[in-house]
Amino acid sequence: DLGSEVEIDAPVDEENAEDDILGGLEIDSTHDIEVPDRLVDQVIGQDHARDVVKKAAKQRRHVMMIGSPGTGKSMLAKAMSQLLPKEELQDVLVYHNPDDGNEPKVRTVPAGKGDQIVDAHKEEARKRNQMRSFLMWIIIAIVIGYSLLIVQQPLLGILAAGVIYLAFRYGSRGNDAMIPNLLVNNAEQNTAPFEDATGAHAGALLGDVRHDPFQSGGMETPSHDRVEPGAIHKANKGVLFVDEINTLDIRSQQKLMTAIQEGKFSITGQSERSSGAMVQTEPVPCDFIMIAAGNLDAMENMHPALRSRIKGYGYEVYMDDTIEDDAEMRRKYTRFIAQEVEKDGRLPHFDQEAVEEVILEARRRAGRKGHLTLKLRDLGGLVRVAGDIARAEDKEYTEREDVLQAKRRSRSIEQQLADNYIERRKDYELTVNQGDVVGRVNGLAVMGEDSGIVLPVMAEVTPSQGPGEVIATGQLKEMAQEAVQNVSAIIKKFSDEDITEKDVHIQFVQAGEGGVDGDSASITVATAVISALEDVPVEQNIAMTGSLSVRGDVLPVGGVTHKIEAAAKSGLDKVIIPKANEQDVMIEEEYEEMIEIIPVSHISEVLEVALAGEPEKDGLVDRLKNITGKALEQREVG
Ligand code: ADP
Repeated sequence: DLGSEVEIDAPVDEENAEDDILGGLEIDSTHDIEVPDRLVDQVIGQDHARDVVKKAAKQRRHVMMIGSPGTGKSMLAKAMSQLLPKEELQDVLVYHNPDDGNEPKVRTVPAGKGDQIVDAHKEEARKRNQMRSFLMWIIIAIVIGYSLLIVQQPLLGILAAGVIYLAFRYGSRGNDAMIPNLLVNNAEQNTAPFEDATGAHAGALLGDVRHDPFQSGGMETPSHDRVEPGAIHKANKGVLFVDEINTLDIRSQQKLMTAIQEGKFSITGQSERSSGAMVQTEPVPCDFIMIAAGNLDAMENMHPALRSRIKGYGYEVYMDDTIEDDAEMRRKYTRFIAQEVEKDGRLPHFDQEAVEEVILEARRRAGRKGHLTLKLRDLGGLVRVAGDIARAEDKEYTEREDVLQAKRRSRSIEQQLADNYIERRKDYELTVNQGDVVGRVNGLAVMGEDSGIVLPVMAEVTPSQGPGEVIATGQLKEMAQEAVQNVSAIIKKFSDEDITEKDVHIQFVQAGEGGVDGDSASITVATAVISALEDVPVEQNIAMTGSLSVRGDVLPVGGVTHKIEAAAKSGLDKVIIPKANEQDVMIEEEYEEMIEIIPVSHISEVLEVALAGEPEKDGLVDRLKNITGKALEQREVG
């Protein structure tokens, strides 16, 4: 049975489990938690993928796993190899072919037999050599005796003895050719093999024949001895795991397909101009289960025939990025920490408060209310850094402060860049965080996956010579145009100014670094344009993020937590976010007091908060409410 149900072998306070961060576990440290032996029982979440792996192991089917890095794909592949029967394992031997030296013969025997066969051959060769050298010495003795005693020519005798010696030595080299090459040795395997061929070049994947620098003259290594197995051969009767499957070159993907189809694959030299390329073995068994992995892109770029082969003879499964946060799951996350500590072998176990801090981080990284992140490779990284910090101080247990310190240390490159960027902007006073300015709004953007930056937007409206244009620079042009289009419908309704007769200039201040994500700046652009058009200033202690519908609804965007934290770090007092994103906010404690979060659902609310200058603003907001209200009614009637 597969182990998602494996419960933790430690006392649980059931009554308070729901509210307790550790899910009611009553432990002093993760030392009290037993780690299951089988890898498959250690997998957290990914129930669907686990079921698939279990089924596929029984039916010997291939699996395609699509999902984010570090969510357990290779772990599951390895777990699958532990579920396969080890009774079927084989050793593979390559023999010299006396009829054709360039086509070595291949034989398969039960696991463990290969070693014995090679030993027997060696023993035989040794005996034969012994016999031969015995014979040689006898002959040499006779020749020397003959030359000394009978013909009385000692020099001739020594010469003849030398020739005989060399002849025997040279001749016995041929004997080594009789010893087979143990290509795949499963004697010591406790489970079916697991081969990770991620990023492997052709030779490592498909096998190779080494080049022989001495191709003749009796110095050559026999061709069968130069044959090397590929991952596909070592994975015979086990699992072949290939991550980032799309990065495998097309020829290798094609050959991989053949290997899957045939269950065996001849080995030949992969570098075309080497002597190895002349050699081709008989087919070598490669009856593996393939687990191909990658992200969504990988699927699009992989060889379609390979994908359909896997699909036709197997399963496709999507890995989860997050999992629902309940008491049982939090107990498993506690066990996860124990697993990572034991896997490393040197880290001090985590005390209760340290575990709590890691689980809080798992919540935060989920970016989704009521969920925990399943990007466990990264979370495991945090566990290791924290443990290392505690170990450096010779602590018995890893403590909360070690985790906090680790979090600061293990910031991603993007986070480090973003922090650096925020600091520099402060130096140059590019982030205005007080007073009010017409046409300038502090927007927010995401850099990388996990960090935000404040990205001010400036708008200016000028009379146009021809038809009005939206003028923006660089990659942001399209996004800006779209945002203006969306607001122009709204603006037309309330403004006396005809926006179609004006040029709207939009500038993203210092947007050079990192990308600006699509329409999440559209309320920012809209606010800047309205402010410029109506000449009403915008409060500068506010940042905002949100998408906008043509009806003025503020729609949800990504990365709110990181954006809010960036606003706080930049010294802003308030941040406007879409109401629909309210549940995604998981900012760290230290920021909670620094910034006020204002959820909104309509552009009129944005303006109400962001615009300064009472009478004009009130008039504007009222008009906007009226007009968009009417616009709504008209829409529904129409
Ligand atoms: P992937 O192949 O998806 O990139 P891995 O399987 O290599 O990720 O995960 C790396 C490490 O992260 C694992 O060895 C394990 O320690 C931890 N890990 C990842 N996912 C899980 C999971 N679902 N359950 C437990 N540990 C996990």
